[in-house]
Amino acid sequence: MFDERALKELASLQVEGPILSLYLNVDPTQRTVEEYKLKLREMLKQISTEADPEDIEAVKRFVDYDYDWSGRGLVIFSRQAEEIWYTYSLAIPVRSGITVARRPYISPLVELDGLYGRYAVALIDRQEAKFYFYQMGEQQAQQVVDGEDVRRTRRGRGSSVHGMRGGAPFSGRREAELIQRNLRDMAGALTAFCERHHPRRLLLAGSEPTVAQFQEQLPAPLRELVAGTLSIDVDASDTDIREHAFVMLKKLEGLRHEKVVEAVVTSAAKGMNGVVGLDQTLSVANEGRVQVLLVERDYHQPGYRCAGCGYLTTQPLETCLFCGEAFTEIPDAVEAVVTQVVDKGGTVEVVEVDKLEETRIGALLRY
Ligand SMILES: [Zn+2]
Repeated sequence: MFDERALKELASLQVEGPILSLYLNVDPTQRTVEEYKLKLREMLKQISTEADPEDIEAVKRFVDYDYDWSGRGLVIFSRQAEEIWYTYSLAIPVRSGITVARRPYISPLVELDGLYGRYAVALIDRQEAKFYFYQMGEQQAQQVVDGEDVRRTRRGRGSSVHGMRGGAPFSGRREAELIQRNLRDMAGALTAFCERHHPRRLLLAGSEPTVAQFQEQLPAPLRELVAGTLSIDVDASDTDIREHAFVMLKKLEGLRHEKVVEAVVTSAAKGMNGVVGLDQTLSVANEGRVQVLLVERDYHQPGYRCAGCGYLTTQPLETCLFCGEAFTEIPDAVEAVVTQVVDKGGTVEVVEVDKLEETRIGALLRY
């Protein structure tokens, strides 16, 4: 299963020779298995001169014999000569692509992790709640919380006390109290659920007034985790809920990116804790000061990396100012900095093309 730990492990991977990174979209709603196999063969042909034939063979073998074609995205990293082999079957589609480089190509996974990494959905009704926890779009846990039966109480009163007390206002209040108690119990259960699974985001779903009432019952830390609300029928299927959540997460990501881009651009312009452009970004990343790295999708730029300390630069230098070692030319300094930031525990946000205009990359600094 893919999680943040796997991402960090990939980012810290050191290899002697070229590693093959493959992303294959296998969404069954778009094409057939045969078409995807054909696509894969074409992709493998593209890199046949750079890749180690052993890695190409390993991928072919896996796809032909071991892969079950479940899910929507397949990701493989292979370096057979050094016994490196990772496969991830993802519940979300990926954009197909293949690279051969000295480091695993992790940007697409970083982007997907940012979008679908760890989140929970709580479907709330007046007497029942369902909680879901997802990792990369895949359901990992589910919990149903049954409250007291609000509807039966009302019907029960109607038949058993018929003609004895005409207390309609009382029953209304009683029902309201029951709902309130149910929502409070559900809030307690959701708190425990989130403490167990540590979602980065929480989506609330259900009818609008109930969700609003429920939200008031949540403790402050959980309320801060709520990223959005979905208007979904209580009887919605698991698939419905998952798909609605996908759409919402995508929308929220757009909004979040706008805010981060704005923060980076503004603080860079004021000379505060933001930088833009590759040179400046590499320089602060070398110092380990990046808190959030913002990078435009598909931005690639060649550069140099110190063989000793890993210092990254776009300038051709003789020897490293810090450790005296020589520099190696690398095909993609942008990917190198993404990997470095993930490895050091920073956050990377891969944003849509044009969001950062001509600077294409930037960062918010820790201090
Ligand atoms: Zn160095």
